[in-house]
Amino acid sequence: MARTGTGAVPAELLKAIPPVELCLREACKEERWRRFRRGYVAMIVRRVQAAIRGQIACGEMAASVGRDLMLKEVMRRVGAAIEADELPLKRVINATGVVVHTNLGRALLAQPALDAITLAAREAVNLEYDLEHGRRGDRDELVEEELCALTGADAATVVNNNAAAVLLALNTLAEGREVIAARGELIEIGGSFRMPDVMAKSGARLREIGTTNRTYLSDYARAIGPDTALLLKVHPSNYRIVGFTAEASLSDLVALAREHRLPVMEDLGSGALIDLSSYGLAREPLVEERVKAGAGVVTFSGDKLLGGPQAGLIVGQRELIDRIKANPLKRALRCGKLTLAALSATLRLYLRSPDLDAALPTLRMLRRGAEELSESAKQIASTLARRLGSGFELEAVTTTAQVGSGASPAEELKSWAVAISHKELSPEAIAASFRRAKPPIIGRIEHDRFLLDLRSVNEPAELIEARFGA
Ligand SMILES: *Cc1c(COP(=O)(O)O)cnc(C)c1O
Repeated sequence: MARTGTGAVPAELLKAIPPVELCLREACKEERWRRFRRGYVAMIVRRVQAAIRGQIACGEMAASVGRDLMLKEVMRRVGAAIEADELPLKRVINATGVVVHTNLGRALLAQPALDAITLAAREAVNLEYDLEHGRRGDRDELVEEELCALTGADAATVVNNNAAAVLLALNTLAEGREVIAARGELIEIGGSFRMPDVMAKSGARLREIGTTNRTYLSDYARAIGPDTALLLKVHPSNYRIVGFTAEASLSDLVALAREHRLPVMEDLGSGALIDLSSYGLAREPLVEERVKAGAGVVTFSGDKLLGGPQAGLIVGQRELIDRIKANPLKRALRCGKLTLAALSATLRLYLRSPDLDAALPTLRMLRRGAEELSESAKQIASTLARRLGSGFELEAVTTTAQVGSGASPAEELKSWAVAISHKELSPEAIAASFRRAKPPIIGRIEHDRFLLDLRSVNEPAELIEARFGA
């Protein structure tokens, strides 16, 4: 339909959108829709109405559409939506260049993890059942020994995500008491995880020390008092303080805490289990090193660099972990069998796989060489140029991709992308057309061009098929 241009929202058009009741009456006239629940059809109608309102707001609907035509259009779209029967959660192609993209579901699981999920979903399993003694077991046992073997910790437990892990650990170890943390580590990460807010909800009192850029061991020492429960260290994840900076090392903190018989907890965020510097990435602190340095509790995510399912892993000293497990909040935050199945299979790969990259898609995408990506980018650029036709300009370009989810934010992860521009179409319009591909392709806009960054695309060949059909 023709554009109305960017004027005020045409009130007449909005008024032409038929009310739900009218659409339902219309739907009842047709046999093929009568077998669906009224509530279902009404839900689809509301979605279509919202989409049309959106189109009107950005001037994408002809001003001349009257009531009759609008009713027809709504019913046509309702019919198409019911026919298509798509689940709201659908596959997309991640061409954003952010490999572990929180909004796109983070890590892609390895095949053995997928198999484990299917098995646990389909059959009865020994989720909390001790097969040897024939009695109730503990679901943590499915992953605890493996986590200990990988990190050197004495004990481990698992909850829904790292935010839950932090909340649970703080609540267990410091409710009603003080937690000392450096001002420069009081981070906010995406999706409204703010350390001071999580701390408040845990019932612990935050004792901020130091300045934004510099905090010394002496700041911690001075803050310790009778109410202190815990010294907290937080991986700054998505930002770096550079220049005139100072922070107390974990081992210094541990030594200080020991003098006062206090535990140290570290929220590591990504929590790498293996050294990724051979991937050309900045060296992320390893969980194993932090345990060895004496952190009593270390928390990290299962679906960031680890490449597993969404989960919050808590490892550390037996006495502290036992208290965490005994907290009634643990029951509220525990994860389900599908998560445990996938996590267990992923940890098994770390323990046994001779070639982790081949097994774990997330690591494979991080490690792919620039030549491989450049090759794909050039090939896809030329095919797309042919298929998109005149008016489009395409070019394979070097880019900087990102690990994502707060891992190595300052890191230059070299990548290649297909840059697409058009004489008349805005990059936003090009992006929208790629989002209408099947499956939708999500790229990013940079320097006024639409980019398909191949670093985060699992199977680059699928881009063409998605955009133009097989
Ligand atoms: C990502 C992150 C979190 C939150 O982890 P989720 O698994 O998303 O809940 C908490 N702390 C740090 C330092 C992080 O990087």
